[in-house]
Amino acid sequence: MAQNLDTNRYREMLDKERARMQHQMRATEIKESQSDALSELSDYDDHPADVANETFEREKERTLRGTARATLDRIEAALGKMERGTYGLCDICGKAIPPGRLDAVPYATLCVKCQADVEGP
Ligand SMILES: [Zn+2]
Repeated sequence: MAQNLDTNRYREMLDKERARMQHQMRATEIKESQSDALSELSDYDDHPADVANETFEREKERTLRGTARATLDRIEAALGKMERGTYGLCDICGKAIPPGRLDAVPYATLCVKCQADVEGP
């Protein structure tokens, strides 16, 4: 049932991606604490344009961190599947995920078809 995959290679890719996402989370956290300090300062004067820009930047950071968080969850899930020997199999239909897809998205836990079903049209 399990695919004959070179899991060591994928584990390496997942480790790298996890480190990258953790780095990104830290970077956005630092930026957010910096902009917290900034917005305390800007309470004292009135620059609506700066505030709008700031809000936009914070929103962007939040989105980035949300994406990094979600990706980390998927990486953990993929590593968990590796432990159980089900790495490379679709969580929904149990069919093998094509290696080409795993090369592009090593933390994919669904095949293309099920992913599309989950995400909807
Ligand atoms: Zn599937």
